[in-house]
Amino acid sequence: MDAQRGYLRDRLAATLFRAREHRTGCSSSCGEASPGADRDTPAVDNGRIADRLEAFASLLELSEANPYTARAYRRAAETIRSAAVPVDELVRTRRVRRLRGIGPGIETRLRELVETGEIEELAELERELAPGLVGLGRYLGLSARRSVEIARALGVRTPEELREAAAAGRLQSVPGIGPKMEARLLEALAREVEPKPQRGLLLNRARELVIGIAEALGGEPAGDPRRWRDSCDLLAVVCAAADAGDVIERFAELPQIVAVIDRSERQAVGLTVEGVPVGLAVPEPGRLGTALVRATGAAPYVAALEPVPDAPDEAGVYAALGIPWCPPELREEPFRGEPPELVAVADIRGDLHCHTTWSDGRASVEEMGRAAIERGYDYLAICDHTPAVGAVSGLRPDDVRRQGEEIEAANEALAPFRVLRGIECDILPDGRLDLPDDVLAELDWVQASVHGGQRMPGPEMTKRVVEAMRNPSVRCLSHPTGRMIGRRPENAVDLARVFEVALETGVAVEVNGLAPRLDLSGEHVREALRAGVRIVCSTDAHSILGLANMELSVHTARRGWATAADVLNTRPLDEVLRR
Ligand SMILES: [Zn+2]
Ligand SMILES: [Zn+2]
Repeated sequence: MDAQRGYLRDRLAATLFRAREHRTGCSSSCGEASPGADRDTPAVDNGRIADRLEAFASLLELSEANPYTARAYRRAAETIRSAAVPVDELVRTRRVRRLRGIGPGIETRLRELVETGEIEELAELERELAPGLVGLGRYLGLSARRSVEIARALGVRTPEELREAAAAGRLQSVPGIGPKMEARLLEALAREVEPKPQRGLLLNRARELVIGIAEALGGEPAGDPRRWRDSCDLLAVVCAAADAGDVIERFAELPQIVAVIDRSERQAVGLTVEGVPVGLAVPEPGRLGTALVRATGAAPYVAALEPVPDAPDEAGVYAALGIPWCPPELREEPFRGEPPELVAVADIRGDLHCHTTWSDGRASVEEMGRAAIERGYDYLAICDHTPAVGAVSGLRPDDVRRQGEEIEAANEALAPFRVLRGIECDILPDGRLDLPDDVLAELDWVQASVHGGQRMPGPEMTKRVVEAMRNPSVRCLSHPTGRMIGRRPENAVDLARVFEVALETGVAVEVNGLAPRLDLSGEHVREALRAGVRIVCSTDAHSILGLANMELSVHTARRGWATAADVLNTRPLDEVLRR
């Protein structure tokens, strides 16, 4: 499997290049012009505009541009995709900035797109950002733009060619690279044992991608995202058809796919603009279930089921195997038994961790409350930050009390729904909490969080966390390992010890539903449950939309074999508040 992925990676840069040239260069013989190439067609529909902005966002991320810019483009794409009016019309009549999140910068890009059918800088980025090369450049401490400049000056297009050119002493011929810089780059290349593995895709993005492709083709999402893996490497879609060729053609034309790099009779591998490979399997209808089982399970799970019998659906496959159907989240290790009744999103009665405009959230207390009611919840805990969090303004004691009045008013307006007075209180480096005990004691729900100082040695970190958990007001430990997937490893806290103290004190542990966190992870949830600790599925929402992250939290808990009984916020409020 790894070899296959490496193979895909190696072919990435060169193929992306060739395939792009092919796609734009063969419009006459392929019978279908690439979208936007026809300058005489005036209308650019909202979907196309959104796709181009999204592609731009991805490439900006890849080129390490200001992350806020990339996010702004992504948000603008979302707005445009769901806009009820033709956005190209708004652009032409200079009214597009009335749309939420469209500023002067994005407006300029939109005008270019609407007038010329393309955003030139985006087209250029697509031509030049060979992901493999950019990856090596990143490793060498170069920006994507600089990597591209160097590659262009050297006339190289792949990481291998760059290494060869460097070894041949050609780096000094590049403008701006002096002897010192060359020595530094050569040293870094010498230290490079093997190219860094490409980072997996965050779960929310991976799911959006495979679900989008599956819907467009009338197929089903599979691979890592169907198992709700926290970081997804293997993305797959299964689509049954008697005529596989037609499905593969449509796959190749999807806006999400920039190139098809591998193709056989009933399979294809496409690349997204970020260079992520997506597999497509096109079984005959009578074998859809078989293909789905194979494309979903982790390798050890599938291997233990072989030979997978042929059936048109998964139920048929499992029936033929004589074992119960297995939820995708549990298809990691070999398992043939009766799975437990896993917790479901519908079991959740309230969200116990969200933010408002009092700290870094985007909606008010009452707006968040109404959104929670719309989700069918009975309660919602408002947990804004405290001052030690640093990056944003946190609540001081008098703020907490003033917010309490606002929450009281919201409760009057929203009854019988309950908005809880909560806080996400920083755990200071010495284990004390960031608010006085008497203020904490007034609150309904206290989340304790480590934010700064994640790199503390294990024993110190464990002592710090455990001490905070012993504060009688603390009800839940937020994102216990502090990991940021692909960016920051777990901190050194001793989770086994944390779970012991959780059991002793009645403190619950969180499964944080933010896609870059998913903390606890599925494996850690399983350890917590074995230790007898209750978990809480929370979103850490910073907006109304963020409340939808409950899905990610719940499915992560399911990966840890959690049932509804294991999750505190499947219970009615009086039970949640009882310590
Ligand atoms: Zn936090
Ligand atoms: Zn938070």
